[in-house]
Amino acid sequence: MKEINIFHDALTDLPGVAARIKAKQKKIIGHLCSYAPEELIYAAGFHPMRLFSSKSDIVLAEQHLQAYCCSLVRGVLEDSLSGRLDFLDGTVFPHTCDSIQRLSDIWRMNGRYNFFADVVLPAKLNTQSARTYMIDILTRFKKDLEAAFGHKITNEDLEKSIKMFNFIRKNLSKIYSLQSKKPGIIKGADLSAIVKGSMIMDKDEVADLLPSIVANLEKMDMPEKKGKRIVISGSICDSPQIYDAIEAAGGVFVGDDLCTGQRWFEGQITEDKAPLTAIAERLLARMICPAKHMTMVARGENIVSLARKNKADGVIFMLLKFCDPHSFDYPYLKEFLDKEGIKNLLIETDDQQQNIGQLSTRIETFIHMI
Ligand code: SF4
Ligand code: SF4
Repeated sequence: MKEINIFHDALTDLPGVAARIKAKQKKIIGHLCSYAPEELIYAAGFHPMRLFSSKSDIVLAEQHLQAYCCSLVRGVLEDSLSGRLDFLDGTVFPHTCDSIQRLSDIWRMNGRYNFFADVVLPAKLNTQSARTYMIDILTRFKKDLEAAFGHKITNEDLEKSIKMFNFIRKNLSKIYSLQSKKPGIIKGADLSAIVKGSMIMDKDEVADLLPSIVANLEKMDMPEKKGKRIVISGSICDSPQIYDAIEAAGGVFVGDDLCTGQRWFEGQITEDKAPLTAIAERLLARMICPAKHMTMVARGENIVSLARKNKADGVIFMLLKFCDPHSFDYPYLKEFLDKEGIKNLLIETDDQQQNIGQLSTRIETFIHMI
């Protein structure tokens, strides 16, 4: 499908994507986490762009971050220090995992870009005070954007932005749900490229492309070949080869609990409420990652329900090496799946040291076993 190729091309040509956005006189604000309040950045007239590591060798970042920080954080710092992100006009760091918070300190001290903001969102999300605090923080962030760029963000700007993000999220949800209903109509690597591409590309372009992909997938029949249905859980998945390995072993990707997947696009923002309250409510309601807290069982129940909803034959935990929050959560999530008899596998990846051959063998063995 030619529309899908556009997403793949964007992911391999970040400077080109940035240049096209700049040609529209838009400033680019980077971020590393799906808790970044992108709707506000967009409402301020900027382009919010999720940053991924270019996976280059770590040389400059070595002087700032220990080898036991996750490869995403080290890789993005390397990209920044080596000038590969010089198209950025600013960056926003939501309060999330320790690694991102330390990266934020280093980033601020290096001061390479004009705008910098820490958005200290609450860590515990299911209380009344968290709701009040979340709205306050978003209000402050809005003021910071206005002060830095001398542009008042109106309710109309926010409403337009909310509509745009709702539209993109709704279409991505449709694509996922079509894949779960007719598994195999789209390759896992293509699905991943569509989501990740939507995080970096110009939003108007994304909003133009997604409905055609949905329409094409709707027309497709259920593939004859039935694979073992696999759900992936973890922080981000920046290794498309994992999807290829699942498919080569006779599996089919049907859903995820990933920051580069459903955790980014799930949940709509209510359009008939005060915009900042509505944005806050979505952030409070969406499924948490382990850097946030809701209840002692929220993530366990979520992974079981995700597996059930997608009729998963197995769940693959895909963790980035040295990702403490997800590693700490893994034993408890595994226990939830084990209790329900849902087979699962843990694999670890590293952006700079991919050993796809070994991972493929483990995935193949797992899929043959389930
Ligand atoms: S896993 Fe959580 S902390 Fe890490 S990038 Fe995703 S949302 Fe942010
Ligand atoms: S992979 Fe883990 S440690 Fe790294 S930024 Fe994401 S949540 Fe934080």
